[in-house]
Amino acid sequence: METLLMKESPLLLPLNKQKTVYDGFITVQDRDFRVRISLPPDLQLKRAKLHCCWQLKRLLKAYQPILKQRLQRSSDLGSFILELKTVLEVALKNRPDHVTIPPPQYYSQLIAELESLGWDKLLFIDTEFCTLRLKGVDSSGHEHVLTVKLKPKYPFEAPEYTADLPVPFSVTWTLQSTLAHIHKRFLAELEGLAEFWSVLDEIDVQTWVLEPEKPSRADTMRRIAIGNNVSIKVEIDPRHPRMLPDCCLLGAEHVVTPLRSKLNTNMHLWNPDCGVLQNLKDVLEIEFPSPATHEKSSLSTECGICYSFRLESAIPDQVCNDPRCGQPFHQACLYEWLRGLPTSRQSFNTVFGECPYCSKPITVKTAVHKQ
Ligand SMILES: [Zn+2]
Ligand SMILES: [Zn+2]
Repeated sequence: METLLMKESPLLLPLNKQKTVYDGFITVQDRDFRVRISLPPDLQLKRAKLHCCWQLKRLLKAYQPILKQRLQRSSDLGSFILELKTVLEVALKNRPDHVTIPPPQYYSQLIAELESLGWDKLLFIDTEFCTLRLKGVDSSGHEHVLTVKLKPKYPFEAPEYTADLPVPFSVTWTLQSTLAHIHKRFLAELEGLAEFWSVLDEIDVQTWVLEPEKPSRADTMRRIAIGNNVSIKVEIDPRHPRMLPDCCLLGAEHVVTPLRSKLNTNMHLWNPDCGVLQNLKDVLEIEFPSPATHEKSSLSTECGICYSFRLESAIPDQVCNDPRCGQPFHQACLYEWLRGLPTSRQSFNTVFGECPYCSKPITVKTAVHKQ
């Protein structure tokens, strides 16, 4: 029997004496695809027909015109098969990921792992059985979600994770690893972050947080209102949440300067055994306005130019330094305003002009303001 031998293994065998039907497998990227080619009685390749399994059909759908053309031009069946292999390699490379269908043992393994993990921990699984959402509850009763994306070669290939955590989540993946291992590791991570979240919960409940508008469990920054147009931006370290955080005071100079000097003088008083909020109060010698004592509207004054509080994601953080004025503006609004005035002048990246409210000197940086 004559066979068509290719460079790398694929074999097509004629199924009849007339050699009008060939059948066999073509191997691309470690996958075997069943192929059958039927030729007309005159064995003209031009009129040959390619039959393939549904997976192959789906993969080659977009390449039909190319394949037809190759069929017309190939000198013999062997060289056409080589062309087909090349096209298939391209098609496999370009296919969307989810088209790859994992082998049957993938599903049986997944079900077994979910059994041992406990179905109550599974919040969601997609129809392809590759994206899972697992639930984890921390010691203060907060629910957290870990999204696990399994690869078609799972468990031989490590999954990918996303979680609403302030630190990257990773698991050392071995062949013995299972979903239960991932989940256990996730719970351990939640425990390690419990203190971080309790520090932030205290801030969120007891103060007016201007930014972020709706903090997520991954957010480490809080901009806390201190008074009218004065705020402090703190960056809590998830691993050392009770230590003195990175602080940045924002507001008019005459208000911010004394606070800044208190922060510098009293920094040594910071006591990690107390809460961050208590420490901030002690170091700055202030009380924070809280939802119990103040309306938010009294602390977050709108921009004096566009009359809104939020401009895209920015809040009005440029403040007129004149103590009697203290009007806040968005950086972008103030920049546009000053640039339009003939009396303003620009030096490097700073525009010098007059406050639209009190006409006292005011400056704004052209680049996005980072403090
Ligand atoms: Zn504005
Ligand atoms: Zn002013």
